[in-house]
Amino acid sequence: MPEIMELEAEGDSLDNFSSLQIKGEEEYQEQESDDDDDDEDEDEEEQETVTLGFVEKPKDRHSLLRQLFPSKAGGVPAWLDPIDLPSEKSRVCSICGDPLQFVIQVYAPIAEKESTFHRTLFVFMCPSMACLLQDQHEQWKRAPNKPPRSVKVFRCQLNHSNPFYPSEPPRHDGTDKPSTVGAALCSWCGTWKGDKVCSSCKSARYCSEKHQMLHWRLGHKVDCQQISISSQSSNSSTYGSRTTSKEIDKVANKSLWPEYEIINEDEDSFNTETSEGNNYSNSVVSKGQLDETMKSLLDNFEGNDDQKCWASFQERIAKAPEQVLRYCRDTNAKPLWPMTSGRPSKADIPKCNYCNGPRHFEFQILPQLLYYFGVKNDPDSLDWATIVIYSCAASCEVKMGYKEEFAWVQLYSPSAGIP
Ligand SMILES: [Zn+2]
Ligand SMILES: [Zn+2]
Ligand SMILES: [Zn+2]
Ligand SMILES: [Zn+2]
Repeated sequence: MPEIMELEAEGDSLDNFSSLQIKGEEEYQEQESDDDDDDEDEDEEEQETVTLGFVEKPKDRHSLLRQLFPSKAGGVPAWLDPIDLPSEKSRVCSICGDPLQFVIQVYAPIAEKESTFHRTLFVFMCPSMACLLQDQHEQWKRAPNKPPRSVKVFRCQLNHSNPFYPSEPPRHDGTDKPSTVGAALCSWCGTWKGDKVCSSCKSARYCSEKHQMLHWRLGHKVDCQQISISSQSSNSSTYGSRTTSKEIDKVANKSLWPEYEIINEDEDSFNTETSEGNNYSNSVVSKGQLDETMKSLLDNFEGNDDQKCWASFQERIAKAPEQVLRYCRDTNAKPLWPMTSGRPSKADIPKCNYCNGPRHFEFQILPQLLYYFGVKNDPDSLDWATIVIYSCAASCEVKMGYKEEFAWVQLYSPSAGIP
């Protein structure tokens, strides 16, 4: 196997970003009262409008391109800033060191500020359940510790006027184009920047040695020679151009999660419950089964806190059982916890690494997504009760590229007695 060589950082530093200004910051001034464990206070239902996300197969292969600002799950990310991608250090699982896999991205611009005209949050995780179990312990470590995590979130935001996209909104007629070509991506995962190149063909690019090795074993060993021969004969010395112009047309790795578009709908629109008819025929959990479980749990007052919490969680989810995402950026919004145990207190949510301001709940991912990803129900398979994303309340200025936000993972607790 040939070596891989480091390439020099490409792309000019985008000076345009240094002139960003935050407007209306006052709105986000926080009445940070206390840092104590006060998450017990309001368990009674608060009714902020929650936006639910559902998966849908993409209409066509162009509908999820970055110039259309999609929310999507699985496949590869549609990077908002296509140049300043997360660094080598931040794109790996800090527990096993493997590159992280793309889970979901949510396009969530904030209209009040110019600097958040475009804004997307990206969630990645290590597909290893062993790493996630380790991550469970690490997430409790408070500052100044910087615990190694296997789940990572990145926030990217852009001005209306930016070097990557035209200012007009996309037309969605197949003619939308980005203004710039993105950085060349890894030939194996199509996810991370391919800042290393195969020393033999000088064409295949990689984010890591691991991905070079996997690609080599699964086909590049043969292709590499052919590429070398054909590029010698055509005397094309600009090895980077071929990959960059195609962007991510071909991703060799077949074990990425299947790709979906995320469709939004307000939770309120599901309140008008139709009488009896089974409109949940496609649902992951059968409605009848759910009702029965819930009834027995609610009837049983000896049930522990986790069981009660689980029952009310299920009741709320049952309005739209196929939801994979719950989004609410309201200041008072709280995640819908499947269980009481394993919830963070306010002090467990670290302050923004960049502005030191508070972080707020922004959205949560539900385990239904694993079903759509085709993750098996084995003991070693990836599983979670919910993943909650906290982001900088001020959505502070991002000079360029991607800023790390915070994810809290709640796993099923044995005491909840959930199958
Ligand atoms: Zn890992
Ligand atoms: Zn890779
Ligand atoms: Zn090669
Ligand atoms: Zn911040």
